[in-house]
Amino acid sequence: MIGSKQIDKVMCIACQNLIGEHTKRGLGRCLFRVQGTMIAEGKSQAEESMNKYKSPEFVPQENTKQ
Ligand SMILES: [Zn+2]
Repeated sequence: MIGSKQIDKVMCIACQNLIGEHTKRGLGRCLFRVQGTMIAEGKSQAEESMNKYKSPEFVPQENTKQ
């Protein structure tokens, strides 16, 4: 469980300032920026992993053990 005090000491990946140093408005803007970046960069990766799970070759972990 992560408390809000600990979150305050986490570095923001959008602007490299601590989360606790953000204004409420600034934090919203940073989160929006991070989300946009993640969607742009992660889209092709996400589609790739989705295809992996959909593929007939995919078998659940417990069935691969011998
Ligand atoms: Zn930020």
